Amino acid sequence: MKCDKCLKGNIVLHGFSHGKCIICKYDITTVHTPCDKVCKKCSNENFLCEECGVEIEKIELINRLRKSTGLCTTKCTFVLEKTNYDFEKSFNYLKENSNKF
Ligand SMILES: [Zn+2]
Ligand SMILES: [Zn+2]
Repeated sequence: MKCDKCLKGNIVLHGFSHGKCIICKYDITTVHTPCDKVCKKCSNENFLCEECGVEIEKIELINRLRKSTGLCTTKCTFVLEKTNYDFEKSFNYLKENSNKF
């Protein structure tokens, strides 16, 4: 997952870069520079932005889902909790089940 700042897009240069996850020391290779700070697994488990390592608040994810789907906070929170705050999964779930909401 990414924080709002990184989602809006930093100035990212293209080219491979290598680094290590600041949490589990797993080798990370990205196709942009600078390299991500946190691996995808640690990012999702610890609510950290994979790109800059900043902590992501749950409310940020809820608001983001709300804006992308146009649904209310209660529904967005419900689905995010179901998917353990995986934004992509939540978004896809809402798309596939839009008739139920
Ligand atoms: Zn990691
Ligand atoms: Zn970030």
